[in-house]
Amino acid sequence: MSNQDAKLGHIPDVFKFAYEQRRLSGEVKVAAFERLADLLTDQSGVIRYKLEGDVDAMRKPRLTLTIDGSLMLRCQRCLGGLGWDLSVRNALQPVRSGQEIPEEELEDDEVDAIEIDGDLDVLSLLEDEILLALPLAPRHDECGTLRPEGGAVKESPFSVLSGLRAKN
Ligand SMILES: [Zn+2]
Repeated sequence: MSNQDAKLGHIPDVFKFAYEQRRLSGEVKVAAFERLADLLTDQSGVIRYKLEGDVDAMRKPRLTLTIDGSLMLRCQRCLGGLGWDLSVRNALQPVRSGQEIPEEELEDDEVDAIEIDGDLDVLSLLEDEILLALPLAPRHDECGTLRPEGGAVKESPFSVLSGLRAKN
């Protein structure tokens, strides 16, 4: 069985995938993530991902997910583009839907349990993990420094004063 057997964005039996220690990797266009669209100023480019199936010492299925790429987030202060390096490395423990998640796994901070019937939508998992990894309020250290022509635009003391007045 090779990686090509798994269709992009879809693993039919994630438990089998783990026990057979299979691997799935590839690239996904940033534009493919619909829920991400509103948070970005630019949807060009790709992210690279790798999903590795394995079993832990207790013979429990384990997935190691790695995602790398670069995203253009929207700065919450000036709404301009903010380049951000995406780097996710997460261990996941698939648990069949309806089955109780053992307490010791809930206490293990290193592993996130995911409830699943077997069929794994990789694209959706990647998007979930990317959304979790994003900073809550991305901001430039200093807004405006990337403005073209003439560099940073300094505010005149008068406009600062009128701004203060408007607040009162
Ligand atoms: Zn900004």
